Amino acid sequence: MLLDDSHLRDDRNWVGVLLNWYDLNKRDFPWRREKTTYGTWICEVMSQQTTMAVVVPRYVEFLKALPSVSDLVSCSDETLRELWSGLGYYARARNLRKGAEYIVQNRAGVFPDSYEDWLHVPGVGPYTASVISSICFSRAKGCVDGNVIRVVARMTGCSSPEIWSETGKGKIQDLVDECISTERPGDFNQAMMELGATVCQKLSPACGSCPVKDFCRAFRNDSVRACPVPKPRKSFESVELDALSVQILNCEQVPGEAVLLVGRASGFLSQTMGFPLFGQGERDALMHWLGEKSFVKSSRVLEKSVSHTITNHQIQVRVVDVTLKQQSGVADDFIAQFKDQFPHLIASSRWVSKSITGRTVASSLDRKIWENISRF
Ligand code: SF4
Repeated sequence: MLLDDSHLRDDRNWVGVLLNWYDLNKRDFPWRREKTTYGTWICEVMSQQTTMAVVVPRYVEFLKALPSVSDLVSCSDETLRELWSGLGYYARARNLRKGAEYIVQNRAGVFPDSYEDWLHVPGVGPYTASVISSICFSRAKGCVDGNVIRVVARMTGCSSPEIWSETGKGKIQDLVDECISTERPGDFNQAMMELGATVCQKLSPACGSCPVKDFCRAFRNDSVRACPVPKPRKSFESVELDALSVQILNCEQVPGEAVLLVGRASGFLSQTMGFPLFGQGERDALMHWLGEKSFVKSSRVLEKSVSHTITNHQIQVRVVDVTLKQQSGVADDFIAQFKDQFPHLIASSRWVSKSITGRTVASSLDRKIWENISRF
């Protein structure tokens, strides 16, 4: 069935019912306890593609370390990476900082107060602009995310793939823009998302305890399982990479066991700090280069590889684990010769203590690689 939302537009009683339910059932999050524009922005960006269980402790730590937009602008890349560790998709943190720079440089640190003005902030799209402007400035602009799409698909009994198309999303945007509570737009948006996250869940909708079941066409027609139809699957591209782990004992830079991390200059996860990554065409060159180096004490390819998915890439990573000899100047020599041989791969480099390696790498792929190395 195509998207027909006329009953939701004609009888708006569901909005009040939804808001009452939200008042009694909303989850307790730190950004709800103490609402600020800066905090709302940070938590929104963090929670895109990351679960709340992961976001909450990272949010608290982030706000403690960088309590204001000017702190975010002036913090070092390293600090930002550490604060973002565990959240994945580090590009989001970089965009966040670009947005903060815009606000400090172009608006003297004053946040925009309208949906339209938020769209001028680099890195902020329609979804984030609607969240912040509705929650913090009571602007009546509806939010449409995956949870809202699912709730609307079920409430309208829509089982057409149209729901996932730009036209379908446009219709849902029109619906929520029309039905949003003008007195409580931020709560309306949060209630819709909260309903999708906690009651109208993808696999196990709790229709029996749903506040809007009397307005839900799929519930009435017993077609909840058919709504929405699954999102069309993305086609995945397979990618094979080598990750290089280089370890040394008691070098000049770090006492005890140390690991080499690099700021990647290109390729997958570029601009993030992690293990050097080599594409298929560079694998042989890497192994050949390592075989020639007298400062390499041992090298091995770990038996188990690491699987990871980034957007539409299914990545298989083979881990090459190298230990350097313990001799004067070898840590610097390795980096100098490595940069010379693979200049396109490395923007920066750093030896870090083995004990903090897992916390220092920024991406979940790097953490998986490190877990694999630690296991072996
Ligand atoms: Fe979702 Fe069921 Fe509520 Fe309908 S009644 S909105 S399907 S939880």
